[in-house]
Amino acid sequence: MSHVDLTRTFTFRNSKQTYTGIPIIVANMDTVGTFEMAVVMAKHAMFTAIHKHYSLEEWKLFAANHPECLEHVAASSGSGKADLDKLTSILEAIPPIRYICLDVANGYSEHFVTFVKSVRALFPNHTIMAGNVVTGEMVEELILSGADIIKVGIGPGSVCTTRIKTGVGYPQLSAVIECADSAHGLKGHIISDGGCSCPGDVAKAFGAGADFVMLGGMFAGHDQCAGEIIEKNGKKVKLFYGMSSDTAMKKHAGGVAEYRASEGRTVEVPYKGDVELTILDILGGLRSTCTYVGAAKLKELSRRTTFIRVTQQHSQVFS
Ligand code: 5GP
Repeated sequence: MSHVDLTRTFTFRNSKQTYTGIPIIVANMDTVGTFEMAVVMAKHAMFTAIHKHYSLEEWKLFAANHPECLEHVAASSGSGKADLDKLTSILEAIPPIRYICLDVANGYSEHFVTFVKSVRALFPNHTIMAGNVVTGEMVEELILSGADIIKVGIGPGSVCTTRIKTGVGYPQLSAVIECADSAHGLKGHIISDGGCSCPGDVAKAFGAGADFVMLGGMFAGHDQCAGEIIEKNGKKVKLFYGMSSDTAMKKHAGGVAEYRASEGRTVEVPYKGDVELTILDILGGLRSTCTYVGAAKLKELSRRTTFIRVTQQHSQVFS
């Protein structure tokens, strides 16, 4: 089992850059997408989408102290001008950063498509991740607009309340299956973003055709996350919150804008210590999945995966 190869190599459609690593990405949330997290992830050839709230000075310090991590991180940005200016200054100051993560809550807008095109024009050789969307047509449009890897997921996140507040969302497994086909048809790639709460879910995302899997909640609560350890009724916890929760808005944007419902919640997650153990748990689970289905490499997993619809009746029989 220890021989199962979880490393993948991809060449990206638009940037023409090549990636090699274990394609699990820490989400660009300010609690988990930290420099401290990236240092540990890079040791395992895993990836971190660094959140967009670090200053240029903090980035420079990180790059000077941990040059070995830079091939496994992306710098993140929303679609606003201030974000793009900061992203530009970071990428100009630190050339070894090769990945950009363009993240908006709703990738279905002409503004976002135009934004992706302009970032591609500014950075012809960087690999661009962009999202979030959940349908094949939009995956194709973003790839044709210059993105390399499309972030797929609206509504599945552990601290996301979009489905409850707005009724908008798409079942994550279906989204991944459909979007992977569209992306791969154009030689693009996808990230399944959100909704994994155990190593088995990560395996299912890869099995469904995701090239990368992005995790927020599963990496929350560790030493490498931002925030203090809080003692509550004799138990240690850390705060984890959505990037459009009240907590994040108060921290970064001076409160939630009135016209916009906050679509993220704040939760206390049990303190889990060093993230190293969680990483080993996830990688161990994935290797075991591959062994069960007879895949010698992660690359083969989706070809050896079949999903079976389990109805209520079935689940009663099986439970
Ligand atoms: P998780 O792994 O915790 O299930 O999901 C992580 C993903 O949730 C993130 O990568 C991001 O796409 C999404 N997310 C993070 N914060 C928020 C938020 O405040 N609102 C919504 N709707 N989604 C969020």
